[in-house]
Amino acid sequence: MKLFQCTCCKNAVFFENSQCIHCENALAYLPQAQKMITASNGSFEYPKDSDAQYVYCVNHEHQACNWLVKKEEENIGKKFCVACQLNHTIPNLTKKKNLRQWRKIEGAKHRLIYSLQRFNLPLNINKNGEDLALSFDFLAPQKIKGEIKPVMTGHLHGLITINIKEANAVHRESMKEQMKERYRTVLGHFRHEVGHFYWEVLIRGNSDNNEAFTTLFGDANQDYGEALQEYYKNGAAKNWRETYISKYASSHPWEDWAETWAHYMHIIDTLETAYSFGIKTRPKVGKNAQMDTEIDFDPYLEQDFSKIINRYIKLTFALNSLNRSMGQPDLYAFVLTAMDIEKLKFVHKVILKNQ
Ligand SMILES: [Zn+2]
Ligand SMILES: [Zn+2]
Ligand SMILES: [Zn+2]
Repeated sequence: MKLFQCTCCKNAVFFENSQCIHCENALAYLPQAQKMITASNGSFEYPKDSDAQYVYCVNHEHQACNWLVKKEEENIGKKFCVACQLNHTIPNLTKKKNLRQWRKIEGAKHRLIYSLQRFNLPLNINKNGEDLALSFDFLAPQKIKGEIKPVMTGHLHGLITINIKEANAVHRESMKEQMKERYRTVLGHFRHEVGHFYWEVLIRGNSDNNEAFTTLFGDANQDYGEALQEYYKNGAAKNWRETYISKYASSHPWEDWAETWAHYMHIIDTLETAYSFGIKTRPKVGKNAQMDTEIDFDPYLEQDFSKIINRYIKLTFALNSLNRSMGQPDLYAFVLTAMDIEKLKFVHKVILKNQ
């Protein structure tokens, strides 16, 4: 994520801020410019488009969004921003717990949309006469006739369902433990599920991409339901680490792709943050250790994947060590094999080709 600046006082501000802590003016994110804008005299203007005025997205009133929409006479204060327009279902906000959890879900979703826009990935397309559009169901588990009906996080033709309970740390940690995962976050769920959507957008029906996909990930035509059933019954093969980025990735080529896609997004976002802060490491172990790294490039614009991955791996030595200093688990708790890197490189190539 970029580090932003208040357009009024030039203080550094963050993506989620709605107010500058220095000059106290209201702040908002303008998605078409990928910039934070500071309000002057109570209204938001973007100098490059000085005819237009902007107002907060409707979800700002729930403190769930700080993005802007164009102010037009007929929709003053009634319009959803480009990220919130994608919501198909949101939970019942009269329940305080739902509101609290949904805000966290929205925080992660807005970060996801920011990245997708930086990759120039479409949020909807028409493919061979079929509309494919990204949308979200944010659902809370409901009690029906005394029984809790669980919500399964998942994806179906662009509609992503997220169980809002994933915003609860106790629930998330216990699921992580139960599923023997190394990493589980709301943002991670979004990145994984959106990977399924972009498989349909970028791979399905594209003969070149599909062929390369099959070589790396396997045949996507194998029965998905059966493959998952088999995985939940028997777990991953003992040697899964040689070929897969995570255990779950071994269940079916689609899941392998979605897991790889999520990791690609983790890597690029982390590098962008490091780039924004001008991070450079020179570990005091001497040059021979070859652990020096400098993130002096915008990863969203970088063509050379070997540069991305080499600098990232070196950066994770420092990041993991910093986390350990705070008694936290490693920031990136994965060891990437040559095969994982090949798959990540394929995701990189497919995204670039689409730009
Ligand atoms: Zn300011
Ligand atoms: Zn919004
Ligand atoms: Zn999946």
